[in-house]
Amino acid sequence: MVQRTFSIVKPDAVRKGFTAAILAEVEKAGFKLVSIKRMSLSKAQAEGFYYVHAERGFFDELTTFMSSGPIFPMVLEKENAIADLRKLMGATDPAKAEEGTLRKMFASSIGENAVHGSDAEDTAAFEIGYFFAGLELK
Ligand code: ATP
Ligand code: MG
Repeated sequence: MVQRTFSIVKPDAVRKGFTAAILAEVEKAGFKLVSIKRMSLSKAQAEGFYYVHAERGFFDELTTFMSSGPIFPMVLEKENAIADLRKLMGATDPAKAEEGTLRKMFASSIGENAVHGSDAEDTAAFEIGYFFAGLELK
């Protein structure tokens, strides 16, 4: 089933100049770029995006980091996009990520891990709608 998922090139990867290299890996893996833009999040906007983690000890660190500089949010399309992007990204902690995964190649720590990817159909739908209007998704 052709499916859409949501991804972000996070502030650490943008700062290091990895955006184009990450997009190249994503396209090489067969994803179609449906929509992408550059923007910055306020702390409150980052908190709204990661609301499921509000009770976690790392929530303040996470949302401070995600609002620390420009990001590239994007919508990707492919067969089995949600699971395949998670596979391409690798483990949350880059120290545990497999060779060839985005986090192995581009991330430096569990907090600053280069990319985000939706983890299920319902979260993908929420996340796409959080960042993109219907007219940006044709
Ligand atoms: P993402 O949702 O960003 O794609 P993920 O699904 O692999 O990452 P989650 O468990 O959803 O991981 O955690 C969201 C983000 O919170 C992680 O990507 C990471 O940046 C941060 N995070 C998770 N655990 C920790 C931790 N122990 N310390 C610091 N930051 C953490
Ligand atoms: Mg997650």
